[in-house]
Amino acid sequence: MPIHEEHLIRPENLTTHAELVIDGVDVSGHWSTFIESRVVTDYNERLEEEIAALPGGEFIHRCWQCGSCTNSCTVNALIPDFNPRYWIYLIRTGMEAELLRDKDIIWQCVSCNKCTYACPRDVFPEGVMKATAHWLELKGHTPKSPSTHFDEVFTDQVLARGRIEESGIIRGFFARTGQALLQDWLVEMTKRLLRHLPLWLLMRMGLAQILKPRARRWDGARRALNNYVDEQHASHRRALGLDRLVAAAASELERR
Ligand code: SF4
Ligand code: SF4
Repeated sequence: MPIHEEHLIRPENLTTHAELVIDGVDVSGHWSTFIESRVVTDYNERLEEEIAALPGGEFIHRCWQCGSCTNSCTVNALIPDFNPRYWIYLIRTGMEAELLRDKDIIWQCVSCNKCTYACPRDVFPEGVMKATAHWLELKGHTPKSPSTHFDEVFTDQVLARGRIEESGIIRGFFARTGQALLQDWLVEMTKRLLRHLPLWLLMRMGLAQILKPRARRWDGARRALNNYVDEQHASHRRALGLDRLVAAAASELERR
């Protein structure tokens, strides 16, 4: 499958001769624009398999490269380099090094799911974007994104208590991402809540901060959920060969 969009050809791979005559024919300027030939030797043949093993990536094999996801994408309209179709192409052809060139924008998917509705093959491109961002973090190519931090704080609270207490999640998220708690929008939102919510509800919310109530009979459900989460993490590590990589790095360090 070829690269469709002209802007995806990296400028360093284009050569134009200001003056060039071939067999007596003047092909100067635009007519002598060539794409440098490339030999790719560093395929990751397991790349598609690795992404497919992560939540959201399961249906990547269905993609037929129609481009509807990119055409409908909210972020692509603002950042043309944000291109789900192209990244799916790179993943399916194992071009890891090429994919890594865009590693700092892949996580910026806003989960609007326009691509999901536009996709004629039920690939769930939004899920593939999430799986790819997750893959980049697990492989150590990018630090955890704010979105991953939020998911972890949210999940930790659900597992611990079986319920959601928003202010705790916001505090946890801000602490993890090094943000000040007293942000203008938050202060304004709190003021409005105090002004408009009934007193009994405010008192209940205040007590929830102190007592941290849990769902009834939560212990059994928590154990089951924790087991499931541990199993999922282990299966993701296996699929990406992370344990093998860590062991290899440890033995390399020992040898030095
Ligand atoms: S979910 Fe992500 S990839 Fe899909 S259209 Fe929205 S921003 Fe683009
Ligand atoms: S819309 Fe679906 S089938 Fe078309 S390129 Fe995107 S993911 Fe592939």
